[in-house]
Amino acid sequence: MKKKIKVLISACLLGDNVKYSGGNNFTPELVTLLEKYNVDIIKVCPECFGGLPIPRVPSEIRENKVFSKDNRDVTKEFLIGAEKTLKIAKENQIDFAILKERSPSCGSTYIYDGTFSENIITEQGITTKRLTEENIKIFSEENLEEIEKYLVELAKN
Ligand code: SF4
Repeated sequence: MKKKIKVLISACLLGDNVKYSGGNNFTPELVTLLEKYNVDIIKVCPECFGGLPIPRVPSEIRENKVFSKDNRDVTKEFLIGAEKTLKIAKENQIDFAILKERSPSCGSTYIYDGTFSENIITEQGITTKRLTEENIKIFSEENLEEIEKYLVELAKN
C-alpha cells in the first residue's frame, strides 16, 4: 500500500481557536485540497507550544527578538515553540509544512515589521526559520496552486 503524504499545518488554518485573538484563520479551500489528496495532517501551534495563553497580546519580531504589543520580551517562548514544532515534524517524518503567512511564528515569506503598525516586510517567522534550517519545505495558505503541484509530484512517488 502506498504511504500517505504527511503534512504539518498551522492549527489556526484548520479552524482551531488558537490565534492571539482567541479566533482562527480557517481556510476551507485548504481543507478541500488536503482531503482531495487524503493527506495525514499533523497540527501545530508554536505559540501555544511555547506556553503562551489564548487569547494573548499579539507579538512582532524586532531586531531578532520577539516583543508583545505591551513590550514584553517573549523571544524565549517563541524559540521553545519553534523547537517543539521541529521535534514533532521530525518525529512524524513530514513531507512538507503549510504555515500561516504573516505570523511572527509561522510566516514563510512575510511578517509584520515590529512596529505594530500593519507594515509588512519580507521575512520569515521564528518557527518557519527553524524548520527551513532543517531543510523542511514550507508553503503558506496563500499558495494553494503551488501546494497542489507539490502534492501531485509526491503522489507519483
Ligand atoms: Fe496559527 Fe501559528 Fe499563530 Fe499558532 S502560532 S495561531 S498556528 S499562526
